[in-house]
Amino acid sequence: MRRSKLKFKTTAVCPKCGKTLVTESAYRDYPLQCLECDEDFYFMETNDDEYSTDVLLPLNTEDETVQELLGAGNLTEADKGLFKTSFHDFRLLETCGWLKDHVEIQLENLLEAGEKIQKYASEDDPYFTFGCIMDEDEEFTADALEDTLHRLIDERANRYKIYELTRMIHEDGNEALINQDDISVDLGYYLKGNIILI
Ligand SMILES: [Zn+2]
Repeated sequence: MRRSKLKFKTTAVCPKCGKTLVTESAYRDYPLQCLECDEDFYFMETNDDEYSTDVLLPLNTEDETVQELLGAGNLTEADKGLFKTSFHDFRLLETCGWLKDHVEIQLENLLEAGEKIQKYASEDDPYFTFGCIMDEDEEFTADALEDTLHRLIDERANRYKIYELTRMIHEDGNEALINQDDISVDLGYYLKGNIILI
């Protein structure tokens, strides 16, 4: 699997398949990607431009600076926890380093073309679901858990965020919680208990 960067949905559409294009958190030559066609695009190849295109960002409503940007009109709330900004402002927020410190990391935003999220729950607590990124046509394995863990760490997810998304706990301070049945993922992280794939 390739290492990914966070990707955000835009309002620009793919000139080939008509699906929504995404943009990556780290600037590349091409500002837009189609995950369906696995192709990159320049704005001039689409019917959109960077002023008419919006980017959807998962942000924390409680965050003071999010509130400031809302007040200044640089952001508008699109959905619960999802905020719209122009592509132009998105690049500014990224260039000044604001984005990486404020964006909420979600597994959906790390998906590359041909990948899916395998949802799972613990047998002990089946009402809370977690997820792991894997290739669409592969079986769920511990390798996928390890890859997902590394991708989250690359995006500077903290231990709390890693638990929230994947149910993996770090052994530090949790030695008493970990037992032999738990899956040892990597770097001291364990996935607790028997899991049920959903
Ligand atoms: Zn496409």
